[in-house]
Amino acid sequence: MQGKLQQVYRVSKELGQNSLLTGSFRLSKLPRLGSLVVSTEADLTVTFEFTTDEYRHPSIKGHIDTELLVECQRCLEPMVYPIDLDFHLLIDATEEDVESFQIDTVLTDEGYLDVFEVIEDELILALPLISLHEDPACNKHWQPSSNEEVVVEKNNPFAVLQTLKDK
Ligand SMILES: [Zn+2]
Repeated sequence: MQGKLQQVYRVSKELGQNSLLTGSFRLSKLPRLGSLVVSTEADLTVTFEFTTDEYRHPSIKGHIDTELLVECQRCLEPMVYPIDLDFHLLIDATEEDVESFQIDTVLTDEGYLDVFEVIEDELILALPLISLHEDPACNKHWQPSSNEEVVVEKNNPFAVLQTLKDK
């Protein structure tokens, strides 16, 4: 069964229906991500299902396709960062479950899951910590030096995201 994309799902209902959900929406619907990219004028396509198959535990499994526009930290010009990402997360799992299945969990609000928030978290975690054009000469004024790493680290707007991973 194929359904149209909505933002919030009642997990118990979707598990029973074995729905495969798919849809597209603008990146601008994801405000936290929006503050980390140069533009939110792109579309995101997502396909996902609610399933208990693999872990004998409710989970959400899907795929995200989009192109994020991030700032190259060498020349400060935008660069395209393609996202082609599979995700699979338990739903409302305990710490013991997360440990024994070795995958992360998302938490519902009394059985309701905000899928946009799940997608947004996945995208934020997928962002490169340091974005650089493939061409090392994209900035003619760039002077590579031994403390290059330190300089890049200081200007890295995504550094805060590392703390998200520990949450
Ligand atoms: Zn560049």
